[in-house]
Amino acid sequence: MIDLLIVGGGIVGSWLAYRAAERGMSVAMCDLSHRPGDATSGRNSGVLHAGIYYKPESLKAIHCIRGYALTLEYLQKNNVPHTVCGKLITTGQQRGDEAEARLQALLENARSIGARDLSVIRNVEKHYPGVKGESALLSPHTGVCDAAAYLRSVQNRAQQAGAFWLIGRKLVALENQADGVRAILQDDEGRQEEVVCARAVNAAGLYCDEVAAMVGLGGYEIVPVRGEYYRLNKPHPVNMLVYPLPDPNSTALGVHYTFHPGGDAYAGPNAVSAESKEDYRITQSARDFAASLSHILDGYTEADLGPGYAGLRPRLRIDGQDYRDFYIHRQDNCIHLLGIESPGLTSAASLSETVLNQL
Ligand SMILES: Cc1cc2nc3c(=O)[nH]c(=O)nc-3n(C[C@H](O)[C@H](O)[C@H](O)COP(=O)(O)OP(=O)(O)OC[C@H]3O[C@@H](n4cnc5c(N)ncnc54)[C@H](O)[C@@H]3O)c2cc1C
Repeated sequence: MIDLLIVGGGIVGSWLAYRAAERGMSVAMCDLSHRPGDATSGRNSGVLHAGIYYKPESLKAIHCIRGYALTLEYLQKNNVPHTVCGKLITTGQQRGDEAEARLQALLENARSIGARDLSVIRNVEKHYPGVKGESALLSPHTGVCDAAAYLRSVQNRAQQAGAFWLIGRKLVALENQADGVRAILQDDEGRQEEVVCARAVNAAGLYCDEVAAMVGLGGYEIVPVRGEYYRLNKPHPVNMLVYPLPDPNSTALGVHYTFHPGGDAYAGPNAVSAESKEDYRITQSARDFAASLSHILDGYTEADLGPGYAGLRPRLRIDGQDYRDFYIHRQDNCIHLLGIESPGLTSAASLSETVLNQL
């Protein structure tokens, strides 16, 4: 019997495998994909969030703040490409008292969560040519990393620490038993194998609800919400991430300007309902994206945008109600990680610490 089976080799499962193997546990990680993490962990903005938007005391707030520090330390130590470029959240084309009040509320929320060194910039256009807005919140510690390189690095560390991989194996059944957990994995050709372990962790991202249902946990549903990106043909001279003030009626942060440490610049992500958990199409037009971007930045027209990529947010519903936080469900010998959407990349190092302590 092995100590721990982790279902899902994205950034969360990989961090957990790394930590558990380092502590001397025998760890197996299974992933249905031959390229574990090519789902959400490989399809995001790569932003190291400094903790601005989340409800105080929520798991998102706690793990974003702690995860930011742990991730930055990890990236530095392991030479993973990243940059602490800073970020502006600008009122953009929104003018007047209401926009100012929302910016102020965001600042107060971020400070109460524990985000550091924030300030409000007035006359944004004067200080940051090309950025629109009367006022902006400056977060100097927000950064961006090469998400694919980060994931590969943690996966390699996990393997070096002794975790072994069961790649191209889909978990198809899970059963709590008196002294552990019994799992059935299936490969692409339909061959099945049994794994018996003391504990199992469900880190299956978009499919965490289906894994939870295997052990009788109903009531959880993941609704995939797609975030599409367009690639920009030139980086903006401001060299910082630029976001709009978030729309109070949306859970997404709004189409923003972002770039990868290698230099590629993007506009996105939007938030559109996906038809399935594999629906990675780009459906919104370049014209719409250019229009959204023009609310916060000068310098781009539709002709500057080419199709980029899309990712799926694993949005959680519990008993039919939207749930806006990460959710950790402990049950017998299993721990289920549910609704790990943004800031999951930033939070993974911290979340895995908590899960390991609970194990
Ligand atoms: C558009 C978008 C932008 C984002 N931007 C950011 C950002 O800038 N910063 C940030 O901090 N976060 C961001 N996020 C969130 C972040 O990407 C995720 O929270 C994080 O990657 C989730 O990682 P995970 O390991 O939980 O899931 P995943 O990466 O989805 O990994 C789950 C794995 O489980 C495997 N799996 C599923 N079912 C089974 C099964 N039955 N058997 C075996 N294996 C299975 C899958 O193949 C997959 O590899 C963004 C997300 C999206 C969609």
